[in-house]
Amino acid sequence: MGWEPIRKPVSWPAHREPNLLDYARARESFSWRAVRDELVVPGVGTNIAYCALTRHARSEHAGAVALRWLGKDGTRRELTYGELDAMTNRFARGLQRLGVRPGDRVFTLLGRVPELHVAVLGALKLGAVACPLFSAFGPEPIRERIRLGDGIALVTSASLYRRKVASVRSDLPGLAHVLFVDGHDDAVPGSVDLQALLADSSPEFEIPTTAPEQLALLHFTSGTTGTPKGAMHVHDAVVAHAATARYALDLHPDDVFWCTADPGWVTGTSYGIIAPLVIGATLVVDEAEFDAARWYATLERERVTVWYTAPTAVRMMMRAVGDQPPRATYDLASLRFVASVGEPLNPEAIEWGLGALGLPIHDNWWQTETGGIMIANFAASDIKPGSMGRPLPGIDATILRRDDHGHVVVRDGAAVEVGDPGEEGELALRPGWPSMFRGYLGEEERYRRCFAGGWYLSGDLATRDADGYFWFVGRGDDVIKSAGHLIGPFEVESALMEHPAVAEAGVIGKPDPVVGNVVKAFVVLHPGYAPSDELRLELIGFGRKRLGAAVAPKEIDFRDDLPKTRSGKIMRRLLRARELGLPEGDLSMLETAE
Ligand code: ATP
Ligand code: MG
Repeated sequence: MGWEPIRKPVSWPAHREPNLLDYARARESFSWRAVRDELVVPGVGTNIAYCALTRHARSEHAGAVALRWLGKDGTRRELTYGELDAMTNRFARGLQRLGVRPGDRVFTLLGRVPELHVAVLGALKLGAVACPLFSAFGPEPIRERIRLGDGIALVTSASLYRRKVASVRSDLPGLAHVLFVDGHDDAVPGSVDLQALLADSSPEFEIPTTAPEQLALLHFTSGTTGTPKGAMHVHDAVVAHAATARYALDLHPDDVFWCTADPGWVTGTSYGIIAPLVIGATLVVDEAEFDAARWYATLERERVTVWYTAPTAVRMMMRAVGDQPPRATYDLASLRFVASVGEPLNPEAIEWGLGALGLPIHDNWWQTETGGIMIANFAASDIKPGSMGRPLPGIDATILRRDDHGHVVVRDGAAVEVGDPGEEGELALRPGWPSMFRGYLGEEERYRRCFAGGWYLSGDLATRDADGYFWFVGRGDDVIKSAGHLIGPFEVESALMEHPAVAEAGVIGKPDPVVGNVVKAFVVLHPGYAPSDELRLELIGFGRKRLGAAVAPKEIDFRDDLPKTRSGKIMRRLLRARELGLPEGDLSMLETAE
């Protein structure tokens, strides 16, 4: 698409030597065992919370700030590794006193407050399974998840309980304990005052020996393509959290790290709770919802050094500042590394980052199922804008050939890889990395179908170029077949975003008797631009020039916004269903659904 590679090192301020200087050498010498040996302690085994907290609390790092919490109302609270370790010990003890045992499922339904971190890590210490729910879920998704996950305890607030749990509680007979962070309510069965429980429990706790394969976390997928699936993760995942944070996020113990994802999503737990603590960094947690001015001010005031966010947030930041570069208003000199995940990162956004933040944004790719970052642009490696980067050391990724029905081609038990660089196929990973999911809750057959011919199949289509960089084409379900071409919506959306009027675009295929499908785009405009027939024609012409007539959108509709999942992903299946008058499917994950 004519985007020049961004060569490293770029001379940004405060540049320091990155963790992964020599990619090829690191891949050769890497072993999961070596990382595991650093983390695993005799007598404790592999326990995520031990690695994240206790290890530091018993070292000279105990006084370092683990968590810096920014309340909605401007409150600021810091907890050191020692303090957070003691609080989570109390929580584990408290659970124990309630009769919760290793293997039991402990859910949280909380905003981004420190009690959430305490509950997740405390439950992990006990050997219970932690399942953080997104606080904006309505009663239905909450009921479904707690029921599917056999939740025995729920940590929540009085107001969230009243609004979201009370009406479905009678469907959850197994839910024995409700721990309220803000007082308790005798009328609620199993009600426990969390603060009193913590105060009455000892700050000492011996973590029982934890086997690497012991179930640790339950994470539900985003529901972008259908009903969310419950992915099961084990304690050994921490080995991948540590290695990927070091390599893909370039995290060092003296970093101030802000991950903007909510722990209700896998990113918000793997990298918003676990990984930065394992590294020993300071984790910034902001309770408030997105607000561009607040976010810029937070980056400046907290002297954030490493920032992990999502394309949708980047696009909102871009929209909010317009032509005004934030560097003129905010001092972002501390920021040295920016990464993003969750959706394709448009080259336009990377270009914006260079101008506005003075830094390129590093795209990386992974899924709820993979538990950690699998493919990434690294601090010391060149960026090819529009590419997801290269596989992490320890990760074997490839592109598999698919037949006309979209199934991976398997010969003599082995899946067939594509031949030439640039050939499209299914992005696949060689099983065996520590944070790989160990099953979909209650859906064994579906789990089995994720593997073929020796590979884990991601369900995403991609290509790999001659330098080993991977390029996202689209989700298997979103790819458009038109006049014999396979068109990835991302390519079309990115091209449209290069037009100054376009803030965001969602692209679908619309059935057509002649060509199979025509490409249709839904476009959100930047402030200052208004929909008009002239602009529509201009955008169609613009698309044609960039993409050629076969790939460019034939139809364009203007929208005020695009339907998104709660984790901020464009729901193309919904754009398509609405356009074609088809059933809308599972809408529980739609941003605006209650
Ligand atoms: P569901 O599986 O329920 O439909 P989901 O796939 O969106 O939802 P997640 O596990 O949260 O649930 O998201 C993983 C998916 O997000 C990937 O399979 C991919 O389609 C997309 N994704 C993640 N990172 C990137 C990226 N850097 N570029 C392009 N797509 C990405
Ligand atoms: Mg998925």
